[in-house]
Formats: sequence, C-alpha cells, structure tokens
Amino acid sequence: MLRLTDIKLPLNHDEQALEQAILRKLAIKKQQLQAFTIFRRGYDARNKRDIQLIYTLDVEVTGEAELLAQDSSVRATPDMTYKFVAQAPSDLAERPVVVGLGPCGLFAALILAQMGFKPIVLERGKAVRERTKDTFGFWRKQPLNPESNVQFGEGGAGTFSDGKLYSQVKDPKHYGRKVLHEFVAAGAPEEIMYVSKPHIGTFRLVNMVEKMRQQIIDLGGEVRFSTRVEKLDLEPLAEGYKLKGLHLSTGEYLSCSKMVLAVGHSARDTFQALYDQGVYIEAKPFSVGFRIEHEQSMIDRCRFGDNAGHPILGAADYKLVHHCKNGRSVYSFCMCPGGTVVAATSEEGRVVTNGMSQYSRNERNANSAIVVGIDPERDYPGHPLAGIDLQRRLEEQAFKAGGENYHAPAQLIGDFLSGKPSAELGEVQPSYTPGITLTDLSKVVPDFVTAAIREAIPAFDRQIKGFAKPDGLLTGVETRTSSPVCIKRGKDYQSINVQGLYPAGEGAGYAGGIWSAGIDGIRVAEALALAYLED
Ligand code: FAD
Repeated sequence: MLRLTDIKLPLNHDEQALEQAILRKLAIKKQQLQAFTIFRRGYDARNKRDIQLIYTLDVEVTGEAELLAQDSSVRATPDMTYKFVAQAPSDLAERPVVVGLGPCGLFAALILAQMGFKPIVLERGKAVRERTKDTFGFWRKQPLNPESNVQFGEGGAGTFSDGKLYSQVKDPKHYGRKVLHEFVAAGAPEEIMYVSKPHIGTFRLVNMVEKMRQQIIDLGGEVRFSTRVEKLDLEPLAEGYKLKGLHLSTGEYLSCSKMVLAVGHSARDTFQALYDQGVYIEAKPFSVGFRIEHEQSMIDRCRFGDNAGHPILGAADYKLVHHCKNGRSVYSFCMCPGGTVVAATSEEGRVVTNGMSQYSRNERNANSAIVVGIDPERDYPGHPLAGIDLQRRLEEQAFKAGGENYHAPAQLIGDFLSGKPSAELGEVQPSYTPGITLTDLSKVVPDFVTAAIREAIPAFDRQIKGFAKPDGLLTGVETRTSSPVCIKRGKDYQSINVQGLYPAGEGAGYAGGIWSAGIDGIRVAEALALAYLED
C-alpha cells in the first residue's frame, strides 16, 4: 500500500475529485487504482476565500514498486498496528496495581489487561455516572465533593471536557493510533481516526469510559472506586527504596511490588505524601491566567469568512502565542469551540476555571485559557512543591474575589485592558456556572501576569479581529494547566529512587492532555509488563 501526502483539494470538492487527484499524482490509469482510504484530513484556512482540504491517503495500486521512487510524498504505508510486547505468564504470582483511572491509568490498565496481567485499579473518586451527578450538582450550586468532581473520579480530568485528541508529543511507535482505535471501539466517532484535530465532546466520553472499564474487568482486572492511595509502603535500600505495598483510604493494606502512579495534576495531597516519604519530586514549569470568552460566530467569521458554518470545518478554533516585552510568553490553551467555561476546583474555598464542549460544539461562546508561562527558578523557588502553594494562593484569591460562594471573578476585556473594575456585562454572556462576579481580575494574579496578558490581547486582536472586543469576557483563575511537579523517572520508566513505582501521565509531568496521557499509559504498561517477565 502507498501513502500519499499533501493532496490539496478545494473545500467544496466533489466525490470523484479524490480519485482524480490520486490518478494525477501517481500518473496512473484508473484500472491501476484498486482502493483507497483517507488516513488524515486537515485544512488550510489561511486564505479564507480559498480554503483547501489537505489529505493523506492510503492507496492500493498495481505496480506499486515503480511508483515508490516518484517523490517524498509517495511512500510505502508504514505498519502502525499495535503489537503487544508481552503476555502474562499463566502462573503470575502478583497483579500490578494502577492508581488513578484518568486516560493514563485507563490505558495502562487496559493494555495490562489485554496482555493478561489482570491489574487492580484504585481510583479515589466515584464511577463516572455518580461522578457526573456530583460534578453537575456542584455547577448547580450544590456543595463541592472534594473526592468527586471535575478532577477526581472515573475518566479523570478530561471526562468533562472538549475531548480534544491531539498534542505535539513524539510518538514514533504509533501508540496514539492504539488510543484512537480503543476509543472508537468504545463508541467514539470513526472520524477521530482521520480528522487532523479530532474531538469527542463530554457526553460520549462518559459512555466510552464505562465500556473501557468493563473490558478491563472482563479480562480479569478489578476496579475499586472511592479508594485513595494514602501512603506507600517502602523498603529502604542502600540507595533509594523498593515498593512493597500501599496503604489505602479504606484502611486496607495492599501488597504490591509494581504500580503505575497516574494520579493527574490535582492530586496535591498525594504529591505531599510521596514527597514526605522521600520519593524524588522536582518542581516544574506550568502556566497561569484566565479563561477568555467571545461569541463563537465571531471566531468562525474571522477564521473562515463566508465559509463559516461549513460542516467539514465545524466550529473554528485558534492557537495564539505572544512573546512579551517583560520576557514572558502568553498563549492560548485548551481552546473549546462552542463550549462552556467550567468550575474545575477539587478543593474547598478555591476557584479554578477550565473549559468543555459537547461533540456538536454548538454553544454560543468560544472559550480558551489565556495563560502566562511561569517557572520554578523565577516564580516559585525553594521547594519542590512550591508550585502547588502558588496555585492554591491564586485559587483562594479567586474564591475571595468571586464572593466566597464559588462564583468566579470575571471582567470585561475592555475594562481589564484599561485597568478598571467591571460593573455591567455587554453582549458576551458568561457560560460559567454556578455564576460570575464582575470585579477587577488584576487583584487575583501577580502583576507580571496582568501586564503580560494586557500586552498579549491587543496582539492577538491583530490575528483574530475582535479578540480584544471590549465586552469579551475574562474569568479566573486558570491554574491547573499542567502539573506543577515532575516525579522523575529513569529510562526504565521507574521512579529514579523507588523501584517498582512507575510515575505516569500528566500528574507526574509526562503528558499534557487526554491523548498524550493515554500514550504514556501504554508506554508505562509495557515497561511494567516487561519488568515482570524479567523478575
Ligand atoms: P487525570 O485525568 O487527572 O486522572 C488522574 C486520576 O487519578 C483521577 O481520576 C483521580 O481521581 C485519581 N487519583 C488522584 N489521586 C489518587 C490517589 N491518591 N489514589 C487513587 N486515585 C487517585 N485534555 C485534552 O487533551 N483535551 C481536552 O479537550 C481537555 N479538556 C479538559 C477540560 C477540563 C475541564 C479539564 C479539567 C481537563 C481537560 N484536559 C483536556 C486535560 C486532560 O483532562 C488531562 O490532561 C488528562 O486527563 C490527564 O490524564 P491523567 O490520566 O494523567 O490524569
């Protein structure tokens, strides 16, 4: 099979155009072309009047060998099928443990189960349906459940999200295809296999997570909800430690010599417990800022012109970066077209924003985080967990500025830029629930964050006309952009000072987003399985 890249066709091309493009590209006759499938479809909308679809196609032809030599955009289709690296022995004495059932833990557990290792999964939160009730309840003004919310519970942090499935991670072994295949098998739309920026939306994710859990159980695995790992049982070695077992919030003790730690970026109590026990942890950079909201129709018009609303293009997204005079960088992050801003705290007395969408992405507003990169040396020096202290401080300031009732502090873009508190909304209506309080957001974040975002928004307006519109809305505070810590692991994927501990996913600092967390789960599951076979 041949893979043809960079096939460009106009947005409104007809059905035959793809076949004709293949014949032209390969300079072959129709009889030589046996079949083709779309491997990827993206678009180039730089010229709004002439939006191009860009295809990568897998093509079956006769006389393939001669056609290969043509140019670099005609290559043999690589084998991207997933191959298991190990099979559990029938007399396996111990079952591996996976802590956390977010995308990383889900894929680690699934791969281990598919290899026959019958993992035990421990998840502090509830099963996804019950968790959905708690999370939506909080958004409707019910009390926050610190163990069952946007961050904690089956499916992990990305369950109530836009379900974007792309990232810039290097994936030479094509684990990302395995992630997509499993998602499709669990009910994701087929198109995620080929569109360049796939997304699933929140409601489908709930069903998919349930199906994947069932597969783990059907393969002999076990999933225990409302079970938090509180402490590790570590045996001291001449250098470092060796994992012996786990102390659980249920009062139980679980023997285990190997575990995947996939607790996500909000498991602050777990990071503290691990640090107190001597697990090697470093502070790492992350970003802080606000959510910005505009009407989605404005973003669509700006990106797609008269083609706004075209079904292939869907709701438009954007990706923006600005390097500021004060040496900081501001960028857009986790953009959710046609979505809502969500209350994403997992701790009482704190306010955190994030965003989510349904598959249809047809809510009125576009939202995105507008955040400033910060780093330990400059902004939170002195302690590996100092980034968590900073996050907490900003989240508490947001809670206070919001009125101490989980309303988020918000400000109109025009007022933020001119430095005056907002008193009245304009056309852009806030989507955040339980509600917002109009105020002065500069009270909530450090001055350099305010200065950087004030400089960046007008610069972004030069790329997306209307981005700085005075009645656009900023809501704060966005602090959970990535993990503030890295639980360092070695080449064998184990903690550099605890044998048997496999830190993984976003919380450990090895992923950012659903897709890359899933990929990391596969990597770590493979390393752990191979280590069992070597023992
Ligand atoms: P998590 O998903 O955080 O999962 C960790 C799990 O571990 C949780 O279920 C938690 O309850 C559990 N846990 C924690 N501590 C313990 C313990 N001590 N014992 C037992 N269990 C524990 N990413 C995207 O790619 N696309 C998006 O569209 C997107 N939108 C998002 C929207 C929102 C609202 C949020 C909050 C995040 C979004 N993200 C998105 C980010 C994405 O969700 C994360 O990058 C991803 O979930 C990280 O996966 P993970 O498995 O490493 O950690």
